[in-house]
Amino acid sequence: MKIIVVGSSNTDMIIKTERIPKPGETVIGGAFSMAAGGKGANQAVAAARAGGQVTFIARVGADLFGEQAVVGFIADGIEVTHVLRDKRSPSGVALIYVDRKGENSIAVASGANAQLAPADVRRARAEIAAADVLLMQLETPLETIAAAAEIAAKHHVPVILNPAPAQPLPPALLEKITILTPNEHEAELLTGIAVNNARDAAAAAENLLARGVGMVIITLGAKGAYVHAADFKGMVPGFSVAAVDTTAAGDVFNGALAVALGERRPLAEAVRLAHAAAALSVTKLGAQPSAPQRRAIQRLCKSGGGAA
Ligand code: ADP
Repeated sequence: MKIIVVGSSNTDMIIKTERIPKPGETVIGGAFSMAAGGKGANQAVAAARAGGQVTFIARVGADLFGEQAVVGFIADGIEVTHVLRDKRSPSGVALIYVDRKGENSIAVASGANAQLAPADVRRARAEIAAADVLLMQLETPLETIAAAAEIAAKHHVPVILNPAPAQPLPPALLEKITILTPNEHEAELLTGIAVNNARDAAAAAENLLARGVGMVIITLGAKGAYVHAADFKGMVPGFSVAAVDTTAAGDVFNGALAVALGERRPLAEAVRLAHAAAALSVTKLGAQPSAPQRRAIQRLCKSGGGAA
C-alpha cells in the first residue's frame, strides 16, 4: 500500500543524562549520540519498516545533515524524489535530553522544514491522488498541510493528522481529517478538556468529531489509546515493555497505523499493530533507529501477551 508522508526531517542530537538540566544548570556525565529524526521523517521511516511503500515530501538543507538524512531514507526504501534540497536554509536540528527514566526535553531549529511550501505538495499531486493514506504532523507550515489535505480530500484519500507539536487548527483543515491522533496534551490544547482517563478522552474526542474530524485516536502513553470511530469506541490497551526512550513513540505509532489502515484492517486491529510498533520503539534509544521492522511488530502482536 502507498503511503505519502508530508513533514519534517531533522538531525537529532541526543544527550542521555541522569536528569534534564534546569535553566542555568549544567549537568555533567551524559552520553552523546546523533540520529536521524523529525516527526515527518520518523513517521516515514516507521511506515516503511512496517511494510508501507512510502513517498516522503519534505525539505532538507544543502548540507551534510540533509545529505545524511536522504541516504537514510533511501536505505529504508523510501521514495525521495520529493525530498527537496533548500539552498537557503540549514537542515532542521533537534537538541534532545533523555533522562534516566526515559523522559525527554526537546528544542528544535526548523531550518528548511519551515520552507516546505504548498507548491511542493502540489508538485506531488499525482502521487497523493494515487495513495492509500496521507500522513502528516505539524512541524512544517500549516498552509502546506492544508494544501496536501485539500488534494487528498478531493481524491478521497484518507488523511491521518498527528497534531504534534500541539497548535490550534483551522476548522477548514479539521473537516478534511479522516483520523486525528493527538496525545493527551495535544487533545487538551485542541479541545480545552484535560485528558486524564478514558471518560475525559471520550469527551475530547466528541468535541473534535463535532468539529468535522472523521475519527479520533488519543494516544495515552503506556496505557494505550482511546479510539472513537463509528464502528469502535473505547480503550485499546498498549503493550507492557521496559521504556528506555519514549522520544518517537507517537511517530512510530502513526507510521505503523498508516500502514495498517492502508491494508484496510479494522480500526481496533490497526491500533493494536501500531501499539506493538510503538512499544518496541520505546525499548530503544533514538527516533529512527528505534522504529521496528514488520516482522518484529507482528511477532509482538501474535505473542498476545504483555498487554498493559
Ligand atoms: P507521544 O509520543 O506523541 O507523546 P504517547 O506517549 O501517547 O505519544 O505514545 C504513543 C504510543 O506509544 C502509545 O499509544 C503506545 O502505543 C506507545 N507507548 C508510549 N509509551 C509507552 C510505554 N512506556 N510502554 C509501551 N508503549 C508505549
